[in-house]
Amino acid sequence: MKILMIGAHQDDNEFRCGALAHKYVQLGHEVYFLSMCNGCGGHHIMTPAETTAARAKESAAVAKLLGITYDVWDDVNDCSLVADLETRRRLIRYIRRISPDLVIAHRPNDYHADHRASGQLVQDASYMLIVPHECPDVPAMREMPVIMYYEDGFKNPNFRCDVVIDTDSEIDIKMQIADLNVSQVYEWLPYTHGETVPEGAAERFEWLKGMDTTKWYSDEEVMALPRGTAVRFAKTAARFRKELIEKYGEERGAKIRYAEAYEVCEYGSPLTDELKAQMFPF
Ligand SMILES: [Zn+2]
Repeated sequence: MKILMIGAHQDDNEFRCGALAHKYVQLGHEVYFLSMCNGCGGHHIMTPAETTAARAKESAAVAKLLGITYDVWDDVNDCSLVADLETRRRLIRYIRRISPDLVIAHRPNDYHADHRASGQLVQDASYMLIVPHECPDVPAMREMPVIMYYEDGFKNPNFRCDVVIDTDSEIDIKMQIADLNVSQVYEWLPYTHGETVPEGAAERFEWLKGMDTTKWYSDEEVMALPRGTAVRFAKTAARFRKELIEKYGEERGAKIRYAEAYEVCEYGSPLTDELKAQMFPF
């Protein structure tokens, strides 16, 4: 299979479907990450050009670690992504060239204008992928990919969990991925949250997790933890505990610490039970 994960920014795919990407690569599938923006806006000290260059290096390191292809639309500045016709056509061509079986994207209701535009662009491109007279310079696909959204916490409407996966075996790699995004996780995001990052590589890495990843926490304890990257992944498991138990059974489902969750976008090919078993054999 070819799987295309489309985020507005470098770190959107990493945090929301990094484990799934890793699982697919392990199974021999081809995984592509697209960041529709260049990351220029994500720093308070570096200039936009310096930030873009730093983010490009960090994303290249993530690509190497995961064994994926990583594209960044380096001419699209952060906070400037718009769901216009030109960008839609660019995305149609981009998706057709890869011709993925599965696309994963933002939902179009989200706090960040780039996330909303990114999700909207994927929706707008979806049907056009198979229309030959739209962007005739790149052959249309014969079949629509399955399209899914990754999890978010927005409530109007609520994210619906159609697929949840146990990602306990990927917690270390997901934390390594986070750790590689130095300018983001240790500089920019702490600045926006008014947080102080501890000195020293080991100390700051522990701080980044926000919890002891070798220890069991109840769902109530996880939900009460304030912040942290591992905490974020643990909260997904706590949030969808019922679905994890339904899928994996009481014994295993109750013990899963980290999860990723996905919602089906109704504009892609339907995710039949057969396809679901084939695409998510985890
Ligand atoms: Zn983002």
